Amino acid sequence: MSIFKPVRLACPSCGAGVDFQAVSSVNADRAPHLRQQIVDEAFQREECAACATSFRLSPQFSLIDHGRDSWIAVLPATERAEWPEHEQAAAATFERAYGAGASPRIRKIGSAIRRRLVFGWAALREKLIAQDLHLDDLTLELTKMALLRSSGSAPIGASTELRLLGGDATRLAFGWLLSSDESLVEGLEVERAAYDEIAADAGGDWAGLRADFDGALFVDMGRLTIATV
Ligand SMILES: [Zn+2]
Repeated sequence: MSIFKPVRLACPSCGAGVDFQAVSSVNADRAPHLRQQIVDEAFQREECAACATSFRLSPQFSLIDHGRDSWIAVLPATERAEWPEHEQAAAATFERAYGAGASPRIRKIGSAIRRRLVFGWAALREKLIAQDLHLDDLTLELTKMALLRSSGSAPIGASTELRLLGGDATRLAFGWLLSSDESLVEGLEVERAAYDEIAADAGGDWAGLRADFDGALFVDMGRLTIATV
């Protein structure tokens, strides 16, 4: 079941009240259209009736998808610096639903599920696109690190995030997004082979970095670069 509750927010342009149905839980097995709305950047977006500005709620919900063995805790992008606490809390939330207190059937389902924690719509969308392209998300983060190494630096340093935006069998499309509003600063495309090389190198040069993500829910290169508070 997907769970919603009504909230009213002030329009960022004119201040008029805009009604949202804020989601606290999305079940992608039962409501695949909601997952698609996330990919389409339409989910939790409303238009102000007074001035026609469209804007989104900050995400704060869990996305369960048994079909893809995926559970994702989603928090606002502004909470990113506190990822260690949020990672512990997300693990505890998952444990309450799928852990020792659950039925054997649920525990078995839970044992196969990849638990993830993301901050912001762009980071969530990236995980779903990676699923759709059959990309392992950790290998994807390592690919992003390799891109960073070869390209030198981000266009606007610490205030931008590199996110997967799309792709196909041969190319992956990334974008540098401004962290504050997730707007696109600069796009870049790479051959999917860059990802495949890192995927094939499981025991090689990348093994040490992979180990930094052992048991991680926050599978994001920010884990290694964000100065935590
Ligand atoms: Zn307005």
